[in-house]
Parts: sequence; C-alpha cells; structure tokens
Amino acid sequence: MKPIKALALYSGGLDSILACRVIMEQGIAVKALRFITPFTGYNMKGREAEVREHARRTYGIDLEVIDIGREYTEVVAHPRHGYGKHFNPCVDCKIFFISRAKELMEAEGASFLITGEVIGQRPMSQRRDTLHIIEHDSGTEGILLRPLCAQHLRPTIPEQEGLVDRARLLAFAGRGRKDQMALAARYGIKDYPPPAGGCLLADPNIAARLRWMFDNLNDRSFEGMLLTTLGRHFAVGEKTLLVVGRDERENDRIAQLGREDDYEVELVSLPGPLSLVRGPANPDIIETAAAITAFCSKARHERQVEVTCRKAGSAGGEVIRVDPLPEAALASYRIS
Ligand code: SF4
Repeated sequence: MKPIKALALYSGGLDSILACRVIMEQGIAVKALRFITPFTGYNMKGREAEVREHARRTYGIDLEVIDIGREYTEVVAHPRHGYGKHFNPCVDCKIFFISRAKELMEAEGASFLITGEVIGQRPMSQRRDTLHIIEHDSGTEGILLRPLCAQHLRPTIPEQEGLVDRARLLAFAGRGRKDQMALAARYGIKDYPPPAGGCLLADPNIAARLRWMFDNLNDRSFEGMLLTTLGRHFAVGEKTLLVVGRDERENDRIAQLGREDDYEVELVSLPGPLSLVRGPANPDIIETAAAITAFCSKARHERQVEVTCRKAGSAGGEVIRVDPLPEAALASYRIS
C-alpha cells in the first residue's frame, strides 16, 4: 500500500514543529515546507542544506526551504484581506502559502496539508471565521488539517476516511502556551524559537519603511521590498530615500540593489557605510546624504570628511567635503 503523506506549512516555530510531530506519530510521512520571503526566513537563503539538516537532527522533520519572495510581493502590495497591526497581511499570506503547498501535493504524492494554527491564538488570522476563509480562498476545504486544534473543527477528509485518527488529534485553543510546552516536553523538544518572532512585516520599523516607499516612490517591487529590510532609512528629500548600510554584508547587498539612476555615497579614505540615494537628487540632497553617511561612520566626530558620490554601479564619481550631520538633526530625516 502507498504510504500516506502530508505536506506541512513550517515556520520553524514550536506550533509548526508540533503539528508535524502529531501527524508523524500516527505513522504518516510528513514533508515540511519552509517558504521564505524577504520578510521571513530570508537569512536561510544559501544555507538551505544546513537548515534542512538542523530540522532533521533536532526535530526529526524532513524539511524543504523554498524561496517564494518574488511572487509574494503582490501579497504585500495588495492584500485582499488587509493588513494586521503593522504591514502584516496575515490572512492573504496564509492563503498564498497554503495555495503554494497545495500546488505541490500531487508531485509530492501527498493526500492532505497540515499547519500549526491554533484556534483563537492570533487575533487576525486564527479566528474560527478566518480559518474558514483561508481554507475557502486557498481551495483546500476538507484537505487542510490543523492537528493542534482539530478537535474544535469539522472533521477533514483524511479524518473521515480514516487516514488520520481524529481521537489522537488535539484541542488546543487560545493564546496560552502551556499545552504546547507540555507537548514539546513529551516529545523531548527543548530547542525551539520564541513564539511570534521572525516576521519583519510585523515590525513597526519595517512597516514605516514600506509605507514610505509605497507612498513616495510608488515602488512595490521585489527589489524595493528587499531594500526595506536592509540598512538605516532616511528621507533626504520629499521623495528621495537614503539607505545607509550597517556592515559590509549590507553594503554589498545594498549595492546589488542599486538602479541606474540611483547614487552611491561612501567615504573616500575610511572603511564605512555604503549609502544609496534613490529619487530626485540635487546638490543639497546629495550633501545631506553625504553628511548622514559621514555621521554613520567612524568619522562621526571629524570635520570636513571626504565623501564620494557616483552613479550606482559606476567607478570614480565626485568627491565632496562635508561635516557629519549633528546627531540632534538626524531624527528629522529618519524613516524608522
Ligand atoms: S506574521 Fe508574517 S509570515 Fe506570519 S502569517 Fe503574518 S504576514 Fe505571514
């Protein structure tokens, strides 16, 4: 007989780990899918094998990391069900992730999907009515099983068909963590991340950057969204953005995201931030960008610092001398 298999939406949080284990405990094979976007899990990019090995070794879970960042852009830009407290389009995000998982079911030979959702745990995306909306809009009614709270929900097809023993599914509800922690202890799971961490769309600073970018640059692109997750952001003109790298890795990534009409700003003779200026730029704006860049460098307390300004991706450029912006003036430019 063909083995029964489920695909799991996996966030790396305890609930998704437990959901996998509850189903695996019934002798069902589970493949966990970790979808990554610029706002969640993107630091796993390039480290997929290591992440996969960690999940296997630590939780006994077969994991695949899948980058869906570019397609996810539309979910962030135009969520049908709106945003949560910050810029988190949780309902649309779940619908999108689950829809993507559903598309993979046939190729994976999976009969149903599982998630670690717990009814009543999150105000926006885990209410009873929202759980139904997510199933409906992702086209997964009857095949989306939530093992941690299944006893509160209608039996799904795998339960009705006896593939899954409903009696061994759980009845967790609400925001408490005691049940989850007790179950983790029973499985011997000690090493897991704290709850509700990890999504930058729920971060007020990232939300402010996205709002500014949408409103002032009319930029809802994948690359624009990636830029909101990097560096420090300043409005150096009404519609001009300055992004200042915080370390070498960020400098490189910011430079990679530069466009033809952007400017790069950096110190001439000291290692320090690389900054990107995007939007209308006149000499005053460039001087402000250079002064902020100098403030964000080791030359913060010097005078007349030499700074290069050049078209993004080009060599050479013009050298100007600026005093680093006084710290007290910085707040008026800061976006987040
Ligand atoms: S917190 Fe972030 S990753 Fe989680 S459902 Fe909401 S938008 Fe998606």
